[in-house]
Amino acid sequence: FIIPDFRGFCHHLDQIYNSCKNNTNGKVASYIPQLARLKSEHWAVSVCTVDGQRYSNGDVNVPFTLQSCSKPLTYAMALGLNGTDTMHSYVGMEPSGRYFNELCLDYNNKPHNPMINAGAIMTAALVKPNLSAADRFDFIFNMYKRLAGDEFLGFNNAVFLSEKECADRNFALAYFMRENKCFPEGTRLHETLDFYFQLCSMEITAESGAVMAATLANGGINPLTGDPVLTIDAVRNTLTLMHSCGMYNYSGQFAFKVGLPSKSGVSGCVLLVIPNTMGICLWSPPLDTNGNSCRGVQFCMELVSRFNFHNFDNL
Ligand code: GLN
Repeated sequence: FIIPDFRGFCHHLDQIYNSCKNNTNGKVASYIPQLARLKSEHWAVSVCTVDGQRYSNGDVNVPFTLQSCSKPLTYAMALGLNGTDTMHSYVGMEPSGRYFNELCLDYNNKPHNPMINAGAIMTAALVKPNLSAADRFDFIFNMYKRLAGDEFLGFNNAVFLSEKECADRNFALAYFMRENKCFPEGTRLHETLDFYFQLCSMEITAESGAVMAATLANGGINPLTGDPVLTIDAVRNTLTLMHSCGMYNYSGQFAFKVGLPSKSGVSGCVLLVIPNTMGICLWSPPLDTNGNSCRGVQFCMELVSRFNFHNFDNL
């Protein structure tokens, strides 16, 4: 689906951008100093349509770490490597109804889904487990880069070191899963955790993030480069779980009110996918009590109040 009057559409985006700019609610994440230092004023909106049209407003070239927004991306890649059945013999597909980092497993003793920490650590374990740590990093960096069509992708080593330093809960989750024999045989626990922290510490800008989201919107084919980065099944599964589990404990309400697959992260980013139409990346560090970017959520609400993008609009 192509936006017929893209300039008119951009005019609406400008208005929504400005309206969200006035929202001064929320608090910047403070569990590590590198995130606590983020400025509350940052606000970026970037759009990339499936036919390659671009819109950007605000701090769209300032790098920030992907954090939990890496979870759907890594999950999509792991699906391509392992297939749906193998992946889901290790991780479920059910919203947990619990906090994203809660120390719990589902009734089958598996992590509930790949969008919460336990499931994302499991997903990391399932990406090229036979490669060395360095080659795994190279592999995933290259895959993320393809998703972004060679636009900005970085790695923030200070955030990585900080994550690793303040990771008691993630260590606890990994040991709890090992105790319950969740991991494939031969999984190296510490290396898997390092890999998970590295994924959280990858940097994008709102502009490159919009291209990543647009690749998900375009059936896994990067709309700018034509590169078939993800399989059809991987995209379908990923968008489904973003829809049901992407916004922490607000996921059900977000699905009701906005009705679009999305994923948020603690750096204040939101990847929003309008399937077959466009990818949007939003970034503003202050978070609400659910851990979602305040301006990001407001933007999504205002967008669907002006346009019939909700999954169940216009049936
Ligand atoms: N690095 C964070 C963690 O694993 C990511 C969390 C997030 O973005 N919600 O706890």
